[in-house]
Amino acid sequence: MKVTLLGTGSPIPDPNRGGPCTLVQAGQQNIMIDCGRAAIMRLLGAGVLPGMVSTILITHLHSDHITDLNDLVTTRWVMMPVNVPLKVVGPVGTRQVVDAMLHMLTLDQGYRHAHHDDLRANGPLTVDVVEVGPGETFNIGEVSVSTHATDHRPVDPSIGFRIEHDGKVAALAGDTIPCAGLDDLCLNADIYVQTVIRDDMVKQLATLLPNSQRFLDILDYHSTVSQAGQTAARNNVKTLMLTHCVPAVQPGQEDDWIGLAKEHFAGNIVLGPDLTSCEA
Ligand SMILES: [Zn+2]
Ligand SMILES: [Zn+2]
Repeated sequence: MKVTLLGTGSPIPDPNRGGPCTLVQAGQQNIMIDCGRAAIMRLLGAGVLPGMVSTILITHLHSDHITDLNDLVTTRWVMMPVNVPLKVVGPVGTRQVVDAMLHMLTLDQGYRHAHHDDLRANGPLTVDVVEVGPGETFNIGEVSVSTHATDHRPVDPSIGFRIEHDGKVAALAGDTIPCAGLDDLCLNADIYVQTVIRDDMVKQLATLLPNSQRFLDILDYHSTVSQAGQTAARNNVKTLMLTHCVPAVQPGQEDDWIGLAKEHFAGNIVLGPDLTSCEA
């Protein structure tokens, strides 16, 4: 099982970091989790073509986590010789988002159908949406997935995905504060991926902003680096991967970030640029 952080950025634009998106490769499957800014570019960087992704799992419907879903759907459709609908698994609301996205793409689909006979013969652009709640299990090939409630309120529902294959476990948390569902999600996981913020830096940066309260609000519903370390330790995780870092980690700051998690967690801690990966 291999986990690659395709995008380690956040809603705050950064020239070097894509938006939240992670790739899990196990049992011949390429599974994407969320689809933030530049996801397809990074997917190619990991050596995976859009058509090789069978399923994308969505943790929640905040724009930074789904902004490039349209790119994945259309690029896949245009490039593949046969029309195999992408499977999108996400919380309630995913169907509404995908339906609206397909509506947005109506003109584009018309242009391409008018131009390419073979594409028209493949039929309409479709997406296979499955909405799931917490406590569900399903398979992607030989890979098993379970869903767990996370706490990102007022974003509700939000879920995390526990992916298991051949005795290995990857826990993909998305945006959440520590909660019972998060503990279930990552208990004894080989790899636990957590989106994080630095509360100390956010508070400091807020003093420089005219709309500081809006920035400070993000402290309400994300795990800090320290909390990610605590969650990893409490649940006997082997490797903690930090992603979706707010603010973006600058060169030379890595040890400082890792140190905050290390105060609580003695296991392996991974923090790095886009395309940083870890195998279990
Ligand atoms: Zn979010
Ligand atoms: Zn986010």
